[in-house]
Amino acid sequence: MSNIRVRIPPSPTGLLHIGTVRTALYNYLFAKHEGGKMIFRMEDTDKERGTKEYENDIINGLVKLGLAGDEGVHLGQSGYRQSERTDVYQKYLQKLLDEDKAYYCFCSKERLDKMREDQRAKKLPPRYDGCCKNLDPAKAKKKVEAGEKAVIRLRVPEDGDVGFRDLVRGETCINCKELDDFVIARAINDPLYHLTVVVDDHDMKITHVIRGEDHISNTPKQILIFRALGFDIPEFAHLPLILNEDKSKLSKRKNNVSMDDYLADGYLPEALLNFLALLGWNTEDEQEIFSMDELIEKFTLDRVHKGGAVFDIKKLDWMNCEYIKKAINDDIDEFYENVKPFIKDIPTDDENLIKNILKDPDFEGRFNKLSEIPVALMPLFSPIPDYSLSLLALEKFNITTDMLKDVLTKAKEVLGAIDWERGDSSKSQEISDGLIAIVGELGLKNGQVLWPIRVSLSGLEKSPNFATLAVYLGKEECLNRLDVALEKVK
Ligand code: GLU
Repeated sequence: MSNIRVRIPPSPTGLLHIGTVRTALYNYLFAKHEGGKMIFRMEDTDKERGTKEYENDIINGLVKLGLAGDEGVHLGQSGYRQSERTDVYQKYLQKLLDEDKAYYCFCSKERLDKMREDQRAKKLPPRYDGCCKNLDPAKAKKKVEAGEKAVIRLRVPEDGDVGFRDLVRGETCINCKELDDFVIARAINDPLYHLTVVVDDHDMKITHVIRGEDHISNTPKQILIFRALGFDIPEFAHLPLILNEDKSKLSKRKNNVSMDDYLADGYLPEALLNFLALLGWNTEDEQEIFSMDELIEKFTLDRVHKGGAVFDIKKLDWMNCEYIKKAINDDIDEFYENVKPFIKDIPTDDENLIKNILKDPDFEGRFNKLSEIPVALMPLFSPIPDYSLSLLALEKFNITTDMLKDVLTKAKEVLGAIDWERGDSSKSQEISDGLIAIVGELGLKNGQVLWPIRVSLSGLEKSPNFATLAVYLGKEECLNRLDVALEKVK
C-alpha cells in the first residue's frame, strides 16, 4: 500500500457536473494505479449558493459511478464537510495572525473600490495597496474584539518565486510581486477557499492535488499558505479544460453538463466513464474501449494532455452504442432491467418478446442510447401509421398496381402457410425464404417484391427487414397489415 492520497472536493453549488466526474475519475484512476487512497470531501462553505439537494446529487452520483473513493462524506464519516471544520480553520488562522504571517484589514469596501478604480485609471494591475499591513497587531486585535469588522489577509512576501512542477504542465513559476496580500478569511470564524483547501489537504495528508486547469492560478496562492503554515506541499496536476465543439469552455448553452441529464438520456455509466477517461488522456496505441481495470492499469498523469479536450457527443454516442451491444450480449436480463424505465410506454408486458427483439442482430446498432430504444421498438407495438400508396409503390422500382396486388396476395399466402409464435426468431429464415421465393414465382425484381412487403409491415420508409418485422409482429398482425396494404391498392 503506497501513501498516495488524492481527493475530490466538490462544492455543492449545482448538480453533479460532467467536469467534476472527469476530475473524480482521473483522481480515482491515479490513486488505484498507485495503490493509494481517494478522499471525498464537501466544500460546503458557500452558504448562499450551496444546497443539501446538490450535495446529495453529487454524493449519489459519484457513488453510483463508483468514483466516491475510500474515505469521506459518502460513507457518513464526520469531518469531511468544511462546515464541520470551522474550529480547525480558526485555529490555523489564529496561528497565522499570532506569527504575523497574516493580518487584520479594516479597509472599507468604498476605500477598496476607489483604490481599484485609481489603479485601473493608471493601467496598473488591481492589487491591495497594503494599507493595513503595518498596523500594530495588538491594536488590531483589540479593535476586532471591540466588534470592528475586519477581513484577514495573508502577508505575501514582497519578492521571491513561487514555483511548482505541475505533473501535467511542467515547471510553472510566478514571482510574488505578481500577487497581493489576498484575503483568506472574512472573519476569524469565516474562512475562505484558499485557506480551507490548504488546511484540508494538509490534515487529510493529501499527496497529490489533481484538479481542473481553472484552478492553476490558485496554486501559487495556496503554496504560500502551505509555506506560511509550515506544511509539506503536495504535488499538483492540472487537467485540461473540457471544451464545446467550437472550442469555448464547456457550457450549459451548448451541451448538457449535468451527469443526471446524460443518465436520464440513457447513456450507460460505463460508457460515460470510458468516454470521460479519454477526454484529456490517451494511451500510446490510441485504444478507445477500456474496462475499468484496464484504465486503472494504464492511467498515468504523464499522458494527460495539456491542450483543452473537446466534448465530442458523436463519439460518446458511438461508444455508448458499443457498450449497449456488449451489455445485451453479456446479460440480457440485467440490461432489460435498465431499459425498463425507458420503455414504460410500449404497450406490452411480454418481457421475453422485448428481450428477443433487443437481442436480434437486425436491431443491433439501431439505438445509441437507451432513450432511442422505444423509438426503434414502437413500430412493432403501435398501430401501423398511415402511409401513402406512393411509398408502397416507390417510383424507382417501377411497380404497377397489378404487380402490387399480386405481390401482396402472394405474401399473404406465404405467411398464411407458416405458423409461428410472435417473437420466435427461429422462423425468420423460413419466412424470409418464403417471401423471397415470390420474386422468382412472379418473375419480378427484388425491390418490386420486398420493398412493398416491408412497407406494408412497417408503414415506414426505414425499418428492420421484412422477415424481422414479420417475426416480431406475429402472424395475425402481419396478415392484417397486408390487408391494409391491399385496401390501398384497390
Ligand atoms: N471546490 C472546488 C471546486 O469544486 C475544488 C477546488 C480544488 O480541487 O482545490 O472546483
